[in-house]
Amino acid sequence: MISCKQLDKIKDKEKNKVRCKKWYQENKERVKEWYWENREKIRKYKKEYFRKNLKSFSERLKKWRHKKGISKKYNSEIGISYTKEYKKLHEQKRSALEKSGGLLTIETIQLVYEDNIKRYGTLTCYLCLQSIKFGKDSLEHKIPLVKGGTNEYCNLAIACISCNSKKHDRTEKEYRKIMKKSKEMEVI
Ligand SMILES: [Zn+2]
Repeated sequence: MISCKQLDKIKDKEKNKVRCKKWYQENKERVKEWYWENREKIRKYKKEYFRKNLKSFSERLKKWRHKKGISKKYNSEIGISYTKEYKKLHEQKRSALEKSGGLLTIETIQLVYEDNIKRYGTLTCYLCLQSIKFGKDSLEHKIPLVKGGTNEYCNLAIACISCNSKKHDRTEKEYRKIMKKSKEMEVI
């Protein structure tokens, strides 16, 4: 329940907001002018303010991450977390994507594996052409579902885990281009 006092406060806040907005609309040009005149000062002040409050900012960020369920084992580089909430979201997203890419059937997967072995003699990564040890294989989408790829046979291939994670959500073409470039750099 909200008390009368609290309600008044909220009302005041709302009124203030409207007033501020109106004032801003009327004085837009003046504010802009003031900003450009004092730009360096403002920047300095902001920097200083941020530096002084760094601790509380990081605390707030921590709390926010915790709230969103991405605080544990949070990988700041790629933004992947292993919490239950995150996994659930990820699964939901994945299944939605799978639906949009058509159903992935066991028969199709089997066919992809069989054809890979028929072609190379042993289970082989279609990207680095190295044979894959048992359990280190992954089903790969040449054009990722995120980029409009489908779950059809022609869009599927077997890759090693290393290539799969390096390729991430790039298309086969994009990945091969990057690999070519990095190989050229190695030669130099
Ligand atoms: Zn590979």
